[in-house]
Amino acid sequence: MRLPDRVEIVEVGPRDGLQNEATHIPTPDKVALIAALAAAGLRRFEATSFVSPKWIPRLADAEAVLAALPHDTGAVYGGLIANERGYDRALAAGVREVSVVVSATEGHCRANLNRPIAEVLSGFAPIAARGRADGIRVRANISTVFGCPFDGVPPMAQVISVIERIAATGIDNITLSDTIGVANPRQVGAIFAEATAAFPRVTFAAHFHDTRGLALANVVAALDAGVRIFDSSIGGLGGCPYAPSAAGNVATEDLAFGLAEMGIATGIDLDRLLDAAELVERLVAHPLRARIDRRLLGVGGAVSSR
Ligand code: MG
Repeated sequence: MRLPDRVEIVEVGPRDGLQNEATHIPTPDKVALIAALAAAGLRRFEATSFVSPKWIPRLADAEAVLAALPHDTGAVYGGLIANERGYDRALAAGVREVSVVVSATEGHCRANLNRPIAEVLSGFAPIAARGRADGIRVRANISTVFGCPFDGVPPMAQVISVIERIAATGIDNITLSDTIGVANPRQVGAIFAEATAAFPRVTFAAHFHDTRGLALANVVAALDAGVRIFDSSIGGLGGCPYAPSAAGNVATEDLAFGLAEMGIATGIDLDRLLDAAELVERLVAHPLRARIDRRLLGVGGAVSSR
């Protein structure tokens, strides 16, 4: 296996997780959560959404959250956007990174974004150009790469075609997402190997869900294929709207623990990360995934991070 010394974790819980929660979480509590995660060593966040509150009412307080976040931690706060209006808001709020979204499959693209893939992609080039001019990193997230609730598993050529059309807009940070948690390690290895070979100038990231317990196995397969950036969500927040009781994003504490045990540095202090996991469980007011027992931290082969 080709394992690196270090990987970067992008914490997406404050956006991908909280947007799906039934509970209204007050702005100061969102800020406290992100601050706790930054204190644990996370340095990159999808912190909120600048998509219209009509679509994502839980994150209507994006500007207030950004204004209150600690800016002395070195953390990069990003936001989800759907168009240039969202870009304007994100820029004004002081984000350093924006995420745009498309799907690998037409069925999911129409269900999630109400538009066909080509139309969504046509909006990316102006955002990419503005990002370059403003020094804002633009990240494109491709949903349903490994399987779609409407169209099944997209052919490799279709995934590569979507990546190619995104790269042609000038976006060179692309995340391949297992939106419904159906990816398997063999498939993950094959797709990332193909994508990284075909687009050497693109920095790829992986976004896995733990719906069937395969998220960390998929992380290892992606590591072996050369991926060095992973999305995760504190407490495993962030279910899938198409699988109501299913587990959500891979939990940041599971990912950080697994990487630490393999001797791969993330810069995360696991003990403080568990503080953040306890905080988020109080905020959403329902039990999250089983937490790591603190007494087990460092019992295994962990080399780094504590
Ligand atoms: Mg997700």
